[in-house]
Amino acid sequence: MSFDRNLEDRLVRYCAVDTQSDADSATAPSTEIQYDLLRMLQAELTEMGAQDVTLTDYGVVLATIPATAEGPTIGFLAHVDTAPQYNATGVKPRVIRGYNGGDITYPDNAELVLSPTNSPYLGTKQGHDIVTASGLTLLGADDKAGVAIIMSAAQHLLDNPEIPHGTIRIAFTPDEEIGRGVGPDLPKDLACDFAYTFDGGELGEIEYESFSADGAEVRIKGVSIHPGYAKGKMVNAIHLAAKIIDMLPQQTMVPELTDDRDGFIHATDMEGGSSDMRIKLILRDFELDGLEQKRDILRKVCDAVQAGEPRAEITCTITPQYRNMRYWLEKDMTPVDLAREAAESLGIEPISVPIRGGTDGSRLTEMGVPTPNLFTGMQMIHGPLEWVSVQDMARATDLFLALVQRAAKA
Ligand SMILES: [Zn+2]
Repeated sequence: MSFDRNLEDRLVRYCAVDTQSDADSATAPSTEIQYDLLRMLQAELTEMGAQDVTLTDYGVVLATIPATAEGPTIGFLAHVDTAPQYNATGVKPRVIRGYNGGDITYPDNAELVLSPTNSPYLGTKQGHDIVTASGLTLLGADDKAGVAIIMSAAQHLLDNPEIPHGTIRIAFTPDEEIGRGVGPDLPKDLACDFAYTFDGGELGEIEYESFSADGAEVRIKGVSIHPGYAKGKMVNAIHLAAKIIDMLPQQTMVPELTDDRDGFIHATDMEGGSSDMRIKLILRDFELDGLEQKRDILRKVCDAVQAGEPRAEITCTITPQYRNMRYWLEKDMTPVDLAREAAESLGIEPISVPIRGGTDGSRLTEMGVPTPNLFTGMQMIHGPLEWVSVQDMARATDLFLALVQRAAKA
């Protein structure tokens, strides 16, 4: 059966709901508006007959599809929030039926063009139904494509109880885009043997490697004094901050110059004034020794600038964020192999490339729930050209169903 219209309807409805997260907010979820979609999903799951439907006090919708056969308990996750990096308010999704392979223009932004030139993957989707935003916002297929896939698959299983599968647990999380989707209680509340996030891109992606990630904050306290009487006394924190940025490896170890398996040190924020400066950075590498090397570089640079100006006070605080999920998954590849075999049974070639980022699965895996990431079809995410093919989403829905049946048989 074809899931196309069901998926399209869900995607368009979910994308129209503003659920942008906010890294500067201290609340959980970070924005109240995420409840609009969380409550909508809670109601739809209840209506389709899912069991144990709950909205936790930390903003996650949980539900169960009861087992119809013996098998492991498998969790499926998608995040409801959209990225803070681009306008996500007033999303007007539109569907281009039977894409003709040419340029796609936008009703609300004459300058914008999506084409196989700037998105080569689009060139392989002739005849597909393509969903985009209207030109002023991102679309939010990241990760509402994942939400729609899980909802359509859940409805299909609840409507067809003759399909054999073990217990299925569903979780829709907030705040993934700001790295706060997995709270301390989620592994226990999810209560599954292993899980999958539907938060990947191209057809066939089955990912089990993510970055290992640290955050760093450098504080620089200078010496403040009236500039007219500052000779020999003032220590300007701005100059010291500039020196630190300048001494970090700008030609090799920054995001704009690295790809594949290379990590980076990325300054994300700098603020303050002559008496007090704060620099925020993120450190990324696939390997822990590579990450340690980057911590070391940052500390040595801070130490060197401190040594050159003993009257200043420079502190560098480094905090672990998440770890490469491969460290855990390679010990037991069952969840990855199961997804790969299910994909192959559908004629989909599995692709496993390392994710140059993290997912909710990175944290979950580290916390004891092995959670690889599966494709949804989403492309050009976090910007106005974001798009997804409804037919790719349908293949991901097929994968969900093939996977749970295969797990029950195994
Ligand atoms: Zn995502």
